[in-house]
Amino acid sequence: GTRTVYVITATYPRPEQEADLVRLSQTLMHAAPFLFWVVVEDAPQRTPVVTELLERSGLRYVHLVAEVPELALPRPRFWGRVPRGVASRNTGLSWVRSHATAGVVYFADDDNSYDIRIFTEVAPSPQSSLSIPWCSPQIQKTRGVSVFPVGLVTELGVSSPVVVGGQVTDFYDGWHGGRRFPIDMAGFAVSVTLLKQRPNATMPYRAGYEEDGFLKELGVTREDLQPLADECSQILVWHTRTEKVAPIRSADLNKFQGSNIV
Ligand code: UDP
Ligand code: MN
Repeated sequence: GTRTVYVITATYPRPEQEADLVRLSQTLMHAAPFLFWVVVEDAPQRTPVVTELLERSGLRYVHLVAEVPELALPRPRFWGRVPRGVASRNTGLSWVRSHATAGVVYFADDDNSYDIRIFTEVAPSPQSSLSIPWCSPQIQKTRGVSVFPVGLVTELGVSSPVVVGGQVTDFYDGWHGGRRFPIDMAGFAVSVTLLKQRPNATMPYRAGYEEDGFLKELGVTREDLQPLADECSQILVWHTRTEKVAPIRSADLNKFQGSNIV
């Protein structure tokens, strides 16, 4: 298939943002013909370095800022845990609902690691199909909601649906928390058609329950979930995290050059 995958990325200004987004953009560039990147910054305005790398990428994209509703502001009922990226994802969802007619939506956080085979079954270049077989259909094949494993989640090391005879029968996850769908943000995709059939489905501002709440609002059952990645036997995405260290942007480096500060 060659359906468009709308990749919704929640991001926010911080020293690691440029590094994370360069890596992600250059991953997405390998599947460019099949992708539309919806980048939504959790910030009052667009960060120039992000605008520039989006322009350089050659990808089809839209660069938005999150509309943060009053209810999303931190308050005691979050028990100290603030949901991250929710306003961005909801803003991205509304954009897709009003601009896309077909395709698939996938939430790709800026710091995760993605095998490009997750986005498409079509090899981006002819060489790719020489020795290693291009893998079976992935996100492009999503009918309603598709699911697949995510590596490096919790101390168990993976979060994955359990698949028996092509059906999801259970979930392997380090934290169930009473969720109907113990699935990581990076472990599912939704068709644009289903998204439009459920125009009010949004992601809740509830840390740990964002995926579960959204999937419940989409009105799907466990039986509806479509396992991808060879019946969930392959890991094609990892919940990596970028360590927060050097607070220096490449633009600031110029200030040191020619001086003896460093
Ligand atoms: N994020 C955001 N605003 C914030 C914090 C995070 O938009 O204030 C984004 C972040 O860029 C990432 C996603 O939300 O794409 C999840 O955040 P993070 O990776 O920090 O959470 P973790 O993966 O550690 O749960
Ligand atoms: Mn993350």
